[in-house]
Amino acid sequence: LTSKRTSIEQQQKSLPVFNCRQRILKELEVNDTVLIMSETGSGKTTQIPQFLLLAGYAKNGMIGITQPRRVAAITVARRVAQELNGSIGDTVGYTVRFEDATSRATKIRFLTDGVLLRESIKDRLLLKYSVIILDEAHERTVNADLLFGIVKDAQKERRKQKLGNLKVVVTSATMDIDHFGNYFNCKGMYLEGRTYPVRVMHTKEEHEDYVHTVLVTLFHIHRTTPKNHDVLIFLTGQEEIESLAQQIRQLAKIDTTGTTDLRVFTLYAQLSQGKQLECFVPTPANVRKVILATNIAETSITIPGIRCVIDCGFVKEKSFNTADGLDVLMSVRISKAQAWQRAGRAGRDADGTCYRAYTKAEMDSFADATQPEILRTNPTSMVLQLLALDIDCNNFDFLDPPLEDGLRSAYKSLDALGAIKTGDVSYITPLGRQMVQYPLDPKYSKLLLTASSFGCMEEILSLVSVLSSDHVFVSNSDKNEMAALAHAKFQSKHGDHLTLLNVFNAFLKSEKPKMWCHDNYLNLRSLTYARNVRRQLREISEHLHLALNSSDDIEMLKKCILNGFFENIAVLQRDGFYITASGNIRSKIHPSSVLHGKYKPSYILFTEIVQTEQTFLRQVTEISIEWIKEVVPFVKNIPTR
Ligand code: ADP
Ligand code: MG
Repeated sequence: LTSKRTSIEQQQKSLPVFNCRQRILKELEVNDTVLIMSETGSGKTTQIPQFLLLAGYAKNGMIGITQPRRVAAITVARRVAQELNGSIGDTVGYTVRFEDATSRATKIRFLTDGVLLRESIKDRLLLKYSVIILDEAHERTVNADLLFGIVKDAQKERRKQKLGNLKVVVTSATMDIDHFGNYFNCKGMYLEGRTYPVRVMHTKEEHEDYVHTVLVTLFHIHRTTPKNHDVLIFLTGQEEIESLAQQIRQLAKIDTTGTTDLRVFTLYAQLSQGKQLECFVPTPANVRKVILATNIAETSITIPGIRCVIDCGFVKEKSFNTADGLDVLMSVRISKAQAWQRAGRAGRDADGTCYRAYTKAEMDSFADATQPEILRTNPTSMVLQLLALDIDCNNFDFLDPPLEDGLRSAYKSLDALGAIKTGDVSYITPLGRQMVQYPLDPKYSKLLLTASSFGCMEEILSLVSVLSSDHVFVSNSDKNEMAALAHAKFQSKHGDHLTLLNVFNAFLKSEKPKMWCHDNYLNLRSLTYARNVRRQLREISEHLHLALNSSDDIEMLKKCILNGFFENIAVLQRDGFYITASGNIRSKIHPSSVLHGKYKPSYILFTEIVQTEQTFLRQVTEISIEWIKEVVPFVKNIPTR
């Protein structure tokens, strides 16, 4: 144990922020806000909270550190707890959506920006905190952008009311220091990093199938470089990552006839904590570690030992079309700044190499910097959260104000949901106030808040929970037939929502969930997560005194769903395509749907729209035009058949 401690101390001292410790503390003593910019991996997230703790900043309140992602909040909290020789929930804790691992003793609290934002609704001055570190500011999530304004306002108010100054540290790997500096009215500190040179290689020609390019590149690296050079691969999402992981494992076995000199790990947001932490465990020197990650490994997490990076050049993003008010999930090109961040991951411990699955010319066409999320996503949740704080978007101090068109359509849909009343002065309704109690998109909150009047609260609780967890069904190429057979018994002719509900109900009843999931080709992790979510949503619902009734009337259940998702209606056309009511998007039912390729219902509602080469509607349920007229008579723009 002593040697483990010594090694942690040695590592801490070797981090670039260690030398700047005095400077950081000095700056924060003199100023209320400090901006710190330095390379990923220099120790900002793990060390700065500890510096502040030792300097006595946690005497009159907690040190809160926000993270854009739950994975980062959890892994980093664990690391800091370990460095302080404690366990999670004591001095160091974390709070993420649906999970709180803190106690009265907690001084350093990692939390997602969403969690802090929701706390601010109850405690606008953030009185629990003496310091707030807004970490990874360059990610510019909507929540972080809102926190910038809220924290600034809390600082001002606390100063005015003499409630103890709120110190704010804004840290980032790449940040427009001038832009932030003007906004926070403070100077930026640039900390010299310590990185090694990274050799960058592009493909010579453009390749359609980047997954194939990545695979070929990986085995080239595996044949030509020492086995202790670990590889980090950037891909877009869970499905892609799991399927490539499977392929690599199989090929690696064939390559080495049994002995494993290559171990594959995966890293993405939906993965369980345990699995995520596995990526940090070193492999023996004669075994190469290969990590397949989404852009969560871009800046918020640093994995030691990476010498090679393979970058597919894409990222999955939600983007919003102001014309139709729908969020579309799609893979888009990364920005040049992201490409350099990714390449930088190869040069933390020693010289490295970055292989890009795109040409130099392709990269020239990438945007310079990633657009802040607030400029490209649906602002509905944001508008509602601000109104819950009695802030109208038009009077909020935004770092970058959202687009007018988007705001207009957000106000419109919140009004239709009954969450707000728009007018000269817009305000939140009692229903809207209840809606913000749930950490969910307003559409889902609406379902929960109206479910008891449809008599199906328990069912909607289950449905919303299972929808909040991705990828319930396991399917991979060689088991496809068996999986399909196992899944068939859950299928509902009404569509995917009822099918998911059947799965979840059966899961909740299963006596040996692990074995049951395995036998039915279902994802234990996702379903366990959903069960946990359900418990918490049920608690909130009880708190709101909603009747926890239950019914097996499927029509009522579907009407209830329609009551929240009336913007997500699509109508079948003669040519077999569907046209969405909002935005007139030509689309098809996603191949993963139980309604795919069978009888095509005239009217459907969907919960997700995905764009690949084509536009697909995911999670689809059959509805009828009569119900639309009955339940949501204000919906006028229904396309004709
Ligand atoms: P920054 O926030 O500046 O990007 P971090 O504080 O996250 O840097 O990380 C500093 C260093 O601590 C990393 O370079 C890495 O070596 C180490 N580290 C961080 N998290 C872990 C972890 N979970 N396990 C092992 N080492 C870690
Ligand atoms: Mg960090």
